[in-house]
Amino acid sequence: MKADVMVIGAGSVGLAAGYQLARQGARVVLLDEGAPPHALGSHHGSTRLIRYAYGEGARYVPLLLRARRLWQELEAESGESLLLPCGVLNLGRDDSPFIRQVAASAREYGLALEQVERNEIARRWPTWRLPVGQAGAFEPEAGVLYCERALLAWRRLAERAGARLLEHSAVRALRIDSEGRVIAKTGQGELGADRALICAGQHSARLLAGLGLTLPLTRVRKTFAWYRADEQAMGPGRFPGFSADLAEGIYYGFPTLDGAGFKLGRHDGGQPLAPGEPLVPFGAFEEDRAELDAVVQAYLPQVGSFIEGKACHYIRTPDEDFILDRHPEHEQLFFASACSGHGFKFAGVLGELFAHWMLDGDPGFDLAPFRLTRFG
Ligand SMILES: Cc1cc2nc3c(=O)[nH]c(=O)nc-3n(C[C@H](O)[C@H](O)[C@H](O)COP(=O)(O)OP(=O)(O)OC[C@H]3O[C@@H](n4cnc5c(N)ncnc54)[C@H](O)[C@@H]3O)c2cc1C
Repeated sequence: MKADVMVIGAGSVGLAAGYQLARQGARVVLLDEGAPPHALGSHHGSTRLIRYAYGEGARYVPLLLRARRLWQELEAESGESLLLPCGVLNLGRDDSPFIRQVAASAREYGLALEQVERNEIARRWPTWRLPVGQAGAFEPEAGVLYCERALLAWRRLAERAGARLLEHSAVRALRIDSEGRVIAKTGQGELGADRALICAGQHSARLLAGLGLTLPLTRVRKTFAWYRADEQAMGPGRFPGFSADLAEGIYYGFPTLDGAGFKLGRHDGGQPLAPGEPLVPFGAFEEDRAELDAVVQAYLPQVGSFIEGKACHYIRTPDEDFILDRHPEHEQLFFASACSGHGFKFAGVLGELFAHWMLDGDPGFDLAPFRLTRFG
């Protein structure tokens, strides 16, 4: 098949883009080093949080509002349940800049948000034991996304619309040929397309370095774990997802879903990793479990015993904002690094945005805050 567009990295953003490109009539080929969804990237672990009153900045909210609509449309088209609006509680000290920004984002865009004092949190969600000085902002419309299920849905719908996914096809290098086509070199040979989207997680920087661009990305090992939890007390109707800026660090968690248990992870911290360095499993470092156990004991004492943990990675930018851009000299090359630990909720909208940008020349959103040039 002659491809109009090649997507390098069929993970969260790549599969969403492949789905959008194919349904808009483009001949699209996707290449991935594994068979997605898998545990090689940032998308495994079954669930992710989605929040709209964004503590990371109001500039994300227009993308988030479109993302919500697209999650709902994907549910309708795939017949899968992907988005559970069980609410998310943002927790932090009274003077936390993150909580202030959550409130500012909600005000600017008229989003539902309830400021909740410590005593009210104890009354409404008695599983929490918070120290004096902690407060919260509850977003009732936020919730949980089923990430691996979403990848399977995009994959199925993209392939049904004619996209071709080449599994176990790691791209080793990229070049532009004399006709301006993007050529990807894999272990199986070369593949070409008129345009390409590079969203290859830990390998995006290396692939773009070969074409003269420096992406300031770092890779960090992250861990999360499940604990036994009472379905009555910590099911989705009774216990919202949360993002908590605690004295011990920044943690996030989920209600127990489908009997899986309470899931808890740490957003900050983690071990730096080089691209390609093996991801050692959960438990290889003493703190993997110790720091999660400490948060359970201090703040959520009703939570039961440890079930299992997993390791994953974040690909981070220095300011933790995304990089969404195109090559200044080779304009047929687009790239997305939407990680830094908060990118999944945007995957659908980024897929749509890049499909419009690559096919019609207009992403439809102001991407100035996400340009590579901000790093100088
Ligand atoms: C533990 C954890 C918790 C998180 N929690 C949240 C959350 O609550 N909410 C939220 O919104 N986000 C969250 N995130 C972030 C979110 O999961 C990521 O931002 C998102 O999955 C990144 O999407 P991506 O497409 O950039 O990367 P990925 O989904 O990892 O896709 C990259 C793909 O590129 C492929 N690839 C790599 N190299 C090559 C190559 N050379 N050739 C071909 N293919 C290649 C990989 O195999 C992979 O499939 C979390 C992340 C982690 C790790």
